[in-house]
Amino acid sequence: MRVLLLNPPGERVYIRDYFCSKTSKSNYLFHPVDLLVLSGTLAEEHELSVLDCIAEGLSPRAAEARIDTVAPEAVVSLVGSVSWEEDRVFLARQARRGRRILAIGDVLHGDAALRLAEEPWLEAALDDFANEDVIKLLAGEHAGVQQATFRVPSGEIVTREEPRSAKSFRVPRPRHELFPSRGYRFSFSRKKTFATVLTDYGCPYPCSFCVISTLGFRVRAVEDVLEEIDALRAAGVRELFFMDQTFGVQEQRALELCAALEERGDLSWTAFSRPDRVGDELLSAMARAGCHTLIMGVESASDELLALYEKGYTVSLVVEAFARVRRHGLRTVGTFIIGLPEESEASLRATLELALKLELDFMSLNMAVPRFGTPFRARALDLGLTGSNDLVMDQAGTQATLSTSTLDRATMLRLKKRMVRRFYLRPSFLGRRLLAVGSWHEALAQVREGLALLRRNA
Ligand code: SF4
Repeated sequence: MRVLLLNPPGERVYIRDYFCSKTSKSNYLFHPVDLLVLSGTLAEEHELSVLDCIAEGLSPRAAEARIDTVAPEAVVSLVGSVSWEEDRVFLARQARRGRRILAIGDVLHGDAALRLAEEPWLEAALDDFANEDVIKLLAGEHAGVQQATFRVPSGEIVTREEPRSAKSFRVPRPRHELFPSRGYRFSFSRKKTFATVLTDYGCPYPCSFCVISTLGFRVRAVEDVLEEIDALRAAGVRELFFMDQTFGVQEQRALELCAALEERGDLSWTAFSRPDRVGDELLSAMARAGCHTLIMGVESASDELLALYEKGYTVSLVVEAFARVRRHGLRTVGTFIIGLPEESEASLRATLELALKLELDFMSLNMAVPRFGTPFRARALDLGLTGSNDLVMDQAGTQATLSTSTLDRATMLRLKKRMVRRFYLRPSFLGRRLLAVGSWHEALAQVREGLALLRRNA
């Protein structure tokens, strides 16, 4: 079958993947990891093409023309709550051209049966991108489908939610070569060309605002990961972004992977982890293996909020962990969630003070959004902060989705913008960034990203 993996066009630079969607906070855009992983699975069985309209900057009209040249029988598309109104119009038009439409994305994680009932063009909603459901759905073999909502020939809508109990998974090598060679940009990358790689799926931690906590946790065989990385190296790629949400959950496995990367000796990379996962042995192995930047959740300067949202660590542990990461020579990125119902002007001030105290290389502020399927969404519904029909949200902060108990949405947005400017426009920070730049590519990327960030937070 001719199958197209599609990241549909959008009015803004949307990032729709891994059951989250947002507008790019500055100008960055990494490869959609769902489509990457699905590309390995689908290319084994079907004649596969990839069209990333966001990376290529295609308008809806140009995207339609490109799709017509491929003439796919089925389209497996990303969708996002951030762009749902655009996505549904675009994909409905594709369905009217006789194409089967399967989709995956945050807006379908949770009430997928309701979405299918509302959207007759949608044949199936995938709820896992690292299993064989997509193959079975395309073949009409519904018996073995594990995590999806789909229509059966009688028209009935069926949801399968098998327990997410597997501890590991294997997928055929993701076909990076099918994705555009230009158009992806990553703020932390040391080289222009980079690839996005996934070595595990989901996350074992219970943070109640995070959709990844609802996906279970399973790991990919290290040999499969290395096969993928060696294919990338053979194609000249030397810079990686590990999309694992917590690098080092299984420390021995992470050490094994780092040892193999160190042996290769020609890679540099960025990863996410958690402050309570990064001990000296792991950090030392990561640095030797080429890691230069580590992104970790700080979330809040309040121990009460960290406990309420089940982060499992305290502020003092965060302070120690970031100092340790810096001692190992890695750049630090702290991510924060702001605008939770308990947020106040004073707590935002404390958050900014903590970001400054941590001496972060980069600060990433995420606005609280009631992600589908999370305990936080249930709480936001209970508190009357959102409605079950409120499908559009953007954690990047182009808008504030929720008011808090003391701040209305407009005030929340204004204070968030002020925090960004206060963090990034310090002369000491700008000087430090300038001195740390290692190449022309990095200098240009940081200027471009910095200007885009400040424009969005003016
Ligand atoms: S550790 Fe990070 S990815 Fe994992 S559940 Fe918590 S916030 Fe989500």
